[in-house]
Amino acid sequence: MSTTTLQYLSTHTVLNQATPLVDHNLLAGNQALQSALKFNAPNLDTASLHALGAQMGSTEIQTHARLANVYTPVLHSHDRMGQRVDQVEFHPSYHALMTAAAQAGLHGSAWAPTLGTGMSSLPPEGALAPWGGPSALKSSFGHARRAAAFMLFTEAEPSILCPISMTYAVMAALPGNAAIFKDWAPGLTARAYDPAFKPFGKKAGLTMGMGMTEKQGGSDVRANTTQAFPDGQDVWGQRYTLVGHKWFFSAPMCDAFLVLAQTPAGLSCFFIPRILPDGSTNAIRIQRLKDKLGNKANASSEVEFLNATAWLVGEEGRGVPQILEMGTMTRLDCALGTSGLMRQALSIALHHTAQRQAFGKRLIEQPLMRNVLADLAIESEAACALSMRLARSFDHKDDAHELLMGRLLTPIAKFWICKRGAAFAQEAMECLGGNGYVEEGGEGTMARIYREMPLNSIWEGAGNIMALDLLRALRKGDVAAALVRELAPAQGAHLALDRLAAALPSRVELMANEMEARRLAQDVALAVQAALLYQSAPSAVFSAFCDSRLAGNWGHTFGTLGAATDFDSIIERAMP
Ligand SMILES: Cc1cc2nc3c(=O)[nH]c(=O)nc-3n(C[C@H](O)[C@H](O)[C@H](O)COP(=O)(O)OP(=O)(O)OC[C@H]3O[C@@H](n4cnc5c(N)ncnc54)[C@H](O)[C@@H]3O)c2cc1C
Repeated sequence: MSTTTLQYLSTHTVLNQATPLVDHNLLAGNQALQSALKFNAPNLDTASLHALGAQMGSTEIQTHARLANVYTPVLHSHDRMGQRVDQVEFHPSYHALMTAAAQAGLHGSAWAPTLGTGMSSLPPEGALAPWGGPSALKSSFGHARRAAAFMLFTEAEPSILCPISMTYAVMAALPGNAAIFKDWAPGLTARAYDPAFKPFGKKAGLTMGMGMTEKQGGSDVRANTTQAFPDGQDVWGQRYTLVGHKWFFSAPMCDAFLVLAQTPAGLSCFFIPRILPDGSTNAIRIQRLKDKLGNKANASSEVEFLNATAWLVGEEGRGVPQILEMGTMTRLDCALGTSGLMRQALSIALHHTAQRQAFGKRLIEQPLMRNVLADLAIESEAACALSMRLARSFDHKDDAHELLMGRLLTPIAKFWICKRGAAFAQEAMECLGGNGYVEEGGEGTMARIYREMPLNSIWEGAGNIMALDLLRALRKGDVAAALVRELAPAQGAHLALDRLAAALPSRVELMANEMEARRLAQDVALAVQAALLYQSAPSAVFSAFCDSRLAGNWGHTFGTLGAATDFDSIIERAMP
């Protein structure tokens, strides 16, 4: 075709459209995460994290993320001959992402150094996703390292991380049945993903999920009606038969689950595998998959237990504290996941506004856009600092202060960071204008981030439940004292922080009123975030955070920082 003909067919030249943000190293461009790593895990070798950052920012992984969200899981309840099969089919990209997550050590392997003897060897080196290997795990930063890796992976795709996160978290609760733990921990910590429907002993890697929520109650799990009937004893301890249902049951293709069910002694925690030790299929019926707002690549189901076989984990009647050992770790992941999504949204917004021109300048040069971007950058860094600080506490369980910080900061980080996520995503999306709202072609990651954001706030204990849990934590006098100690390094750094820190202990003591629990959770979160930023971020970030969030020089939306803010330093630091 001649040039002249082409000119006739073309109506215009495409101008001023930003390029997609691909093939960049997610850690190299994330100074906030690098600072948080230095602060919380000072001697950690981060080479494997840099390799993961490059992998997660690659076109290949972004393509898998798009495909796994476009071609969503399909339930096959029966085969064509009418036999019950209860299988979920996933796109190959889902399996590719699961493989990458397992090889990056995001599931049970962060616990491997603490497992002691009697376990099979540490997970073997993976070929796809290089990481530190056994020597890195021998450092005392297993959870902090894994937390950074989890955030980097979240930037690529968050929803496949649901079963990965549950497999990480179950390692805290499963020791409640030593025999099962001994048999299953090697598979749960192996850096291998094996989707085959096979008995646990024949698989290279295992995943686990959890089931608490029933139709009549999710937050108030005491309302659970699923019944457990004693059914003898075997090498895995007391065996039961379960009859009932779970209304939300994510990742139903996991190899096993921890679930709650009623016994005469009260609500108890049970281990329920999909394939029984004799090779037969357990009676877990997948009724439906949920049609969800976001989180599309992950299958979330409704199930029924029809005389399903299960084993007791922990003491009978103590099911809630037992399964909450797992819940604490998934709550950490909610905070980490939201922090990762915030960073991803911020990076895309910065990348876009650095290219797109309006009214004669690049958007990133427009003063009001600079205010929005700097405000988002501060929020993102504060979220990263707090969630990494929480992760660090799980690396030092022999330290009394760290134990208390783990108790205090779990509901704080889960409440505050996840609560900020949806507003953050909306504002970051708006930086892209109309293109931010469009799904098409994989550049629709902003839309995906936006749909994912509310989820971390809802599951694993919604906002009010976290604020109420904070009250429970603070009723232990030691926790309030630990908070004072945690804030002490930043004393004298900013007047507004000093005022807030001084007021918190008496507010904690007066706190008998649930009505103000969110307010208290917010203020504790802000005080801890400010103290962390003082210790790990440049003064421009710390001052802007305190001036806006603590001293009141701020509005009710992002982009309302005071004119004296050091916008240049903040934006330059945040550039991906
Ligand atoms: C995609 C998805 C996947 C999920 N996967 C799983 C899973 O795998 N396993 C599982 O067990 N669950 C799962 N859940 C369920 C989730 O954990 C629950 O939805 C959540 O805990 C809330 O329970 P609920 O839906 O019953 O709401 P409710 O308990 O009815 O709560 C509704 C609202 O009331 C508030 N509230 C409750 N009690 C109080 C109170 N005392 N004071 C003030 N406010 C209160 C809550 O904060 C919430 O905002 C999943 C949910 C989603 C959306």
